[in-house]
Amino acid sequence: MLWLGLLTLVTASPLRSPHQPSHPPAEADQEFAEEYLRHFYGYKPKSERQKRTTDTGEDADWRTGLCDKIQKMQRFFGLPPSGELTNETLAVMKRPRCGLSDVERFGETIRWKKRTLSYRIAGYNLPFSTSKVQKVFRAAWKLWSNAAAMKFRKRNRKEADIVISFHNGDHEDGSPFDGTGGILAHAFLPGVGIGGDVHFDAEEDWSLNSTGFNLFAVAVHEFGHALGLPHSDDPGAIMYPSYNFAPKNEIRLSFRDVTDVQTPVCPKFASLFSKRPPPRTPDKCDPHLSFDAVTELQQEVIFFKDRFMWRRHPQFDDTRITLIGSLWSDSVPNYLDAVYENMERSVNVFFKGHQYWVMRQLQLEEGFPRNISDLGFPSRIKSVDAALHFRLGSYTIFFTGHECWRY
Ligand SMILES: [Zn+2]
Ligand SMILES: [Zn+2]
Repeated sequence: MLWLGLLTLVTASPLRSPHQPSHPPAEADQEFAEEYLRHFYGYKPKSERQKRTTDTGEDADWRTGLCDKIQKMQRFFGLPPSGELTNETLAVMKRPRCGLSDVERFGETIRWKKRTLSYRIAGYNLPFSTSKVQKVFRAAWKLWSNAAAMKFRKRNRKEADIVISFHNGDHEDGSPFDGTGGILAHAFLPGVGIGGDVHFDAEEDWSLNSTGFNLFAVAVHEFGHALGLPHSDDPGAIMYPSYNFAPKNEIRLSFRDVTDVQTPVCPKFASLFSKRPPPRTPDKCDPHLSFDAVTELQQEVIFFKDRFMWRRHPQFDDTRITLIGSLWSDSVPNYLDAVYENMERSVNVFFKGHQYWVMRQLQLEEGFPRNISDLGFPSRIKSVDAALHFRLGSYTIFFTGHECWRY
């Protein structure tokens, strides 16, 4: 509901963004990043290239290739596309995710030729009782059958189109799992044999709630691959590659997921959703768009809306959408009321309801969130509509209803 930060704060800050490395990344991080880009973005590391003479020309070529892939990855995840391996870029690379590539656009071409598919759950390595696992997978298939006019039937022993199983480490399909964190699961495109099969990493801490990794959330995503869907760069889509389950956010197919799965099918199913249309990710070009909050973060201006934010960086033309959680993990809530930057203290302050959070260098300060009454608001004030920090004079103005407060 506010728009104020922009009006007053014009910076030409000499400070580097907190996300930029002040020194080159450690060798281990560099290797990790190259492996990540090889796996998910089709990067060919130096060692895999034809070894000609290692003259400087070839070295430069290799660097350019790496930079290009980093930029591709940064664009996909809504990061400023600097092509540099910033700390923030590394942090996004290290987030738990699906094991499939982000650049293979296999989407519309490979689909099942039938409308009723069978699936079977392999009975070993299950994280919970068979009945609980069955219930989770049945619910996950239901989301897709509601959207795609397909039916999914469970089989116990017989051959099935889709086999769902849990595996440790190397399970002989060329894509070994990596233990806890990192890659959580992967799936195969529709087809015979292993085609359509879904594999979960048995070493993850799977859960039915928000501890560890929510099996339902990951299953809905992987089942999308089993139906032929690729990764989506829409952070509101189930087919977004990184794990972003939030307990208060209902798991639903987004508008993008539904249109992607329906593309080869007749479009009349759109009418199925007239009662409860799938959620659309906010669009920056929507003339009716309003923001929840706006703040600066060093050189950037950040616009917040629901679970999402757009980052405007003065060096880059494009303003891309991403999840709030991609920068501040789960430390900052979604659906914010107000945010401001206090540059003298190098902090950003976030408000939602009667609470506020202080983040320094993307880390939550100890003891937060705290109650806004700690700032001196009377108990009748239940939330803040907007906040504006004045660097010259070093004070903050809060707006609540028709009142404003100077802090
Ligand atoms: Zn995936
Ligand atoms: Zn596998």
